[in-house]
Amino acid sequence: MHFSMLWPGGREKALTLSYDDAVLQDIRLLEIMNANGIKGTFNLNSGYLGGKATLIREGHLVQHNKVAPEEIAEVYKGHEVAVHTVTHPNLVDLPDAQVLYEVLEDRKNLENLVGYPVRGMAYPSGRVDQRVVDLMKGTGIVFARGVDTTKNFAVPKKETWLNWRCSCHHWELEPLIDPFLHENGLKLLSVWGHAYEFDQRDDWEVIEDQLARLGGHEDVWYAANIDVFDYITAYNSLDVAVDGSSAYNRSSVSVWVRAKGKKYEIPAGGVVRF
Ligand SMILES: [Zn+2]
Repeated sequence: MHFSMLWPGGREKALTLSYDDAVLQDIRLLEIMNANGIKGTFNLNSGYLGGKATLIREGHLVQHNKVAPEEIAEVYKGHEVAVHTVTHPNLVDLPDAQVLYEVLEDRKNLENLVGYPVRGMAYPSGRVDQRVVDLMKGTGIVFARGVDTTKNFAVPKKETWLNWRCSCHHWELEPLIDPFLHENGLKLLSVWGHAYEFDQRDDWEVIEDQLARLGGHEDVWYAANIDVFDYITAYNSLDVAVDGSSAYNRSSVSVWVRAKGKKYEIPAGGVVRF
């Protein structure tokens, strides 16, 4: 007897977004996300909150001003706030102690602003190597996202949480939308980017249209990155009978599986026989 994971509610599709740097453009993106019931994770540099800066990107001067610290809890309410280090260094070039400081200090600062344990992270500029991954294991960070993408809907494996590859950057999103919405099979569509990039290309109407098409579907689970982590971790923690005929869910959330062609909900603390 074999069973396979479904998303909460017995769904086959999950969507999650991940945006970096705490730029003021996040506020406009969040309005679009909230209007469409879409959730995401926002990776913030606590050392720069409230600061003003500009970037040159593709020949355009782009505002890189940051959300003020006292506004973080309200702006990102209903979404996940995650670590992006205090000062956005290249972690690969830093000594161990400074890597740990950049992560733990950012965690502490953000936790003081939002009032819950901050467990997620995105590596600054996606720069990571095996040493940096290994250092994360002592920080309380449970997943960390890079910038490499898969261009598919693969669900993260437990060995790769500290090197999470998204499906796509938002500039690569369009070709994935139709297959995500219309093809069968378990899927996670995970998208990353920077909200200032919509100013950079002056194309806010593209993401407005894309999120309007992706939002509002009964058969899609809209989740922050940490919700995806927690759910998959609960699934991976199921205690399963030797012959697969029953499963015990020791976690605090319902887990949904498909067995013998049927959908089953295994409630928190409950046992289901298939
Ligand atoms: Zn960044």
